[in-house]
Amino acid sequence: MHSIQHLPPRKRIALVAHDNKKQDLVEWARFNKGLLSYHELYATGTTGLLLETTLEIAVHKLQSGPLGGDQQIGAKIADGEVDFVIFFWDPLEPQPHDPDVKALLRIAVVWNIPVACNRATADFLISSPLMSSNYERIVPDFEEYQGRLKGHK
Ligand code: PGA
Repeated sequence: MHSIQHLPPRKRIALVAHDNKKQDLVEWARFNKGLLSYHELYATGTTGLLLETTLEIAVHKLQSGPLGGDQQIGAKIADGEVDFVIFFWDPLEPQPHDPDVKALLRIAVVWNIPVACNRATADFLISSPLMSSNYERIVPDFEEYQGRLKGHK
């Protein structure tokens, strides 16, 4: 069994870009500024500052990624407070916070949250009619799993 989370047309979007991908994200966000500014935006610290200063859009800034920002986004996903993730991670360079990167990607899958990891995917997702309409997101039900853990206490 599962439950449903009703997402309104205005989504809560988290944006993260590693340093070598920040330019990509800024270009993508500039192109999609009209669409993006309709939604509520969250970002890791440096990415958020960059988006605010270059595009003049309002962003809730979390900690910088290596200082816990990715984990904060993960926590928001687990709490049902982020609906959508744009995560331009760098496939060509190890990061000091690689475990956090993996954890964010993992928790997004756990909670059935859409994630775009490159510009083409982000283009397809942002232009989906679902972005600006109501959407019923299936929230996996982990009650059985949680019960199993409790049973082992
Ligand atoms: P930053 O973090 O936006 O603070 O650079 C991104 C990341 O490395 O996860």
